[in-house]
Amino acid sequence: MTALQVTDVTKSFGGLTALDQVSLELRPGEVHGLIGPNGSGKTTLLNLLSGYYEPTKGDIRLDGEDLSRTRVQHRARLGIARTFQKPRLLGTMTVLDNAMLGAWRDVGSNFLGTALSLGRTRREEREFARRAGELLMGVGLGHAVHRRADLLEHAEQRFLEIARALAMRPKFIMLDEPAGGLTALETEHLGRIIQVMRDAGLGVLLVEHHTDFVFRICDRVTTLDLGKVIKRGTPDEVRKDPEVIRVYLGA
Ligand code: ADP
Repeated sequence: MTALQVTDVTKSFGGLTALDQVSLELRPGEVHGLIGPNGSGKTTLLNLLSGYYEPTKGDIRLDGEDLSRTRVQHRARLGIARTFQKPRLLGTMTVLDNAMLGAWRDVGSNFLGTALSLGRTRREEREFARRAGELLMGVGLGHAVHRRADLLEHAEQRFLEIARALAMRPKFIMLDEPAGGLTALETEHLGRIIQVMRDAGLGVLLVEHHTDFVFRICDRVTTLDLGKVIKRGTPDEVRKDPEVIRVYLGA
């Protein structure tokens, strides 16, 4: 299976270079951590990968196809999903309907059409409800499928966002600080879900400040500082790296 390949990507905002010739390969069946101090470029890289920004230089490829200038929807159809630092849910809709939005994006309908249920057949609807329901059970939200999304606890909203992203049947998933605001127990639960994703062959990019968690569950870790990759390696290699300790982990 093909990797998602970022090659020599630079992203400038006016005079500010947020990313400076960054390369990264996200492989199927791998959990790849992305760490670094605030402002080091992690979110910018995630936005470039998911199609919210275009690179100033360099390219992003999947299966040889240059995705650098394609839109979010196109990338979603090719199997690139993400979650956000603050979960983006449709609050007045049910948990099940939110998860089903992911399944609908999988077949490429647009977001508004999806929300308005345009063009659904009964059979598709049942199939998507089944898939979304299974995923909700899988992330531990089986008890809450008919609840309004905005009435969920913070951690439940995070898990719902993950279920929605997985309903797209992605090949790659990018998680933006998924452990933020979770208790230790909830973080363990998140870790198990990520391991299941890896075992299912997904490539997972994990942007996270909770470094113990990153080092525990990642196969490889990339560290950014001031928009550049300063170290990439196994969790052990990265944790012990003097430069990573100096700029981020502290002595
Ligand atoms: P991190 O996620 O590691 O905290 P970011 O990717 O958010 O870092 O930011 C990297 C740098 O790019 C910062 O200096 C930030 O201020 C700048 N930056 C990010 N997004 C924008 C934007 N849309 N416009 C201008 N500057 C931005």
